[in-house]
Amino acid sequence: MAIRGFDESLPIDLHTHSSVSDGTEPPGAVIRAAAAAGLGTVALTDHDSCAGWAEAAAAAREAGISFIPGVEFSTQIDRASVHVLGYLVDPADADLLASMTEVRESRLTRAERMVERIGADYPLTWQDVLDESEPDATIGRPHIADALVRRGIVGDRTEAFEGILHWRGGYYQPHRAPSPVEAIGLIRAAGGVAVLAHPASRGKAALRPGWMRRLVDAGLQGLEIDHRENDEVSRGLLHEYARKLDLLVTGSSDYHGTGKPNRLGEHTTAPEQLRRILELGTGSRPELAVADDSGQQQR
Ligand code: AMP
Ligand code: FE
Ligand code: FE
Ligand code: ZN
Repeated sequence: MAIRGFDESLPIDLHTHSSVSDGTEPPGAVIRAAAAAGLGTVALTDHDSCAGWAEAAAAAREAGISFIPGVEFSTQIDRASVHVLGYLVDPADADLLASMTEVRESRLTRAERMVERIGADYPLTWQDVLDESEPDATIGRPHIADALVRRGIVGDRTEAFEGILHWRGGYYQPHRAPSPVEAIGLIRAAGGVAVLAHPASRGKAALRPGWMRRLVDAGLQGLEIDHRENDEVSRGLLHEYARKLDLLVTGSSDYHGTGKPNRLGEHTTAPEQLRRILELGTGSRPELAVADDSGQQQR
């Protein structure tokens, strides 16, 4: 049987979002945009949901590029938000599903509470937010931001995040989230590969003393180092951790469609790192575009 692979000569982007969470395009459109941008491999990593995988895999097959199934878990250390990427997890794993469902439900009530508070000061209703989100999407502040934009209350998502939706903006509410230790355990138990997303973004909670070791002890396997939210100094530190702790290293765009300035392929992952991920992940199958040396197609 021929083993399929990915095109190692083309760029690899392992972190993107669709309208299944807070991206602005459906999963298939994200994949087509990735192919159009010249990427050879792309992972879809919606927040707390695997619901976009089937559409993304079909679109990748059609477009002739490779697709890696992934998910970005919302977790927290104390009250600070930490994101953990899980690649190739089993999407039907009961514990994983239960955790994702709990987080999504809590995100929903939390968003309703925020909108209630915002609605006391601005002409914003819960229906406005529903109008900006796909059914069953993982609801987040970006959807509230879009509703604020639609209502003309702010100019764009960024303005919303810097003001009304800021955690110190007066309307912020937290949602339930597991600790990263818990999430990493769930990812590993579901056959996935656990990579810490943008470790140096706001708060840098995972870089606090002791945490990196704790996360690695819990089963963390990689660090997303090349990402616009990691500053240069932190990237140096993260590379040191990766060397010392034998962690794999990724780079990605964190594309959200028109919802964020991040462009597809603005940061990429080296082929040997993706090979490691493919060797380690056993919970689900990637959709790989290239047949092995024998030239035989598997399908
Ligand atoms: P939440 O998880 O609901 O608290 O919202 C955080 C999410 O909003 C993150 O996953 C980001 O993708 C998105 N986000 C954060 N800052 C911005 C921004 N300035 N513009 C657009 N999206 C943002
Ligand atoms: Fe997001
Ligand atoms: Fe993130
Ligand atoms: Zn993300």
